[in-house]
Amino acid sequence: DVLADQIAAGEVIERPASIVKELVENALDAHSRQIDIIVTEAGLGQIRIIDDGDGIDQADVAIAFKRHATSKIQSPKDLFRIKTLGFRGEALPSIASVADVIMTTATGSEQGTEIHIRGGETITMKPATARPGTDITVTDLFFNTPARLKYLKSPQTELAQITDIVDRLALAHAEVAFSLTHNERELLRTVGNGNLQQVIAAIYGNTNAQKMIPIETQDPDFSVRGFTSLPEVTRSSRQYISIIINQRYIRNFQLTKAIIQGYGSKLMIGRFPMSVLLIELDPVLIDVNVHPAKKEVRISKESQLEGLITMAIQQQMAKQNL
Ligand code: ADP
Ligand code: MG
Repeated sequence: DVLADQIAAGEVIERPASIVKELVENALDAHSRQIDIIVTEAGLGQIRIIDDGDGIDQADVAIAFKRHATSKIQSPKDLFRIKTLGFRGEALPSIASVADVIMTTATGSEQGTEIHIRGGETITMKPATARPGTDITVTDLFFNTPARLKYLKSPQTELAQITDIVDRLALAHAEVAFSLTHNERELLRTVGNGNLQQVIAAIYGNTNAQKMIPIETQDPDFSVRGFTSLPEVTRSSRQYISIIINQRYIRNFQLTKAIIQGYGSKLMIGRFPMSVLLIELDPVLIDVNVHPAKKEVRISKESQLEGLITMAIQQQMAKQNL
């Protein structure tokens, strides 16, 4: 029901950036190769996401907006080996309960569908001509939950959150072409050729991307690859460190510390490197079902992974005589 969806929305949909995150993750789970994100007024005007992924069958469109309807896990034991970004079946019903949503979707094997839901009420659902993929537009965010609106920060801050999330998603998926446009201005474009350093260049600039050293290491449980900046290229915050596990951007204080530790005394106090580390591990070693927004995760053998990261950076520095 709408109330339950709004309660869930309270946890998953805090701000425009949460919507961008959930919808882009859906596009990624649907095997999209190209994802275009078009935003106006820092997400309060509209958020539109166009993907070229699997699309949704006519028969499943209404179900996708039902609570806990997910096509991604079938049995309880799947919860312990999650390979998709979504699995809780909460995002679409939550978003639709606090905004106006129009989705056009097609699988390519049958006619497409257009559904319009506002504040949890289905306004229309009808066949539509559409190319394969999904095109979803969210407007009037929080129109029926004014308290939420009041808690939003300035447009600059909300937009910065959107940019930050799209940046991390693009870093985690160098094989997907992303574009982000705000008020008709293009803020990011990646080509989707799988080249991580090119994505880093698109986000942090060419000069910074050139001043990065490659990291590549593994042990029986973990593989780690990516780039970390030369000790001279530092920032005053940890913001520019991205830790990505099984293509999911996560926040983890200990792993961040492990990266910093790899630099030893080469970093000045209060300075932090720029790093993008892609970690792969067996999904049984990670629990992503800790928080609805899935930002925090629990990792088994975490200290082993910390050691591996620190050592990889130390060795790479030594190799480069740094
Ligand atoms: P979850 O991602 O946790 O499964 P969501 O509420 O985000 O839950 O989405 C519900 C379902 O709708 C998904 O399981 C998926 O089957 C379908 N879906 C949502 N977005 C897309 C998309 N962009 N392309 C294809 N299918 C989608
Ligand atoms: Mg989802």
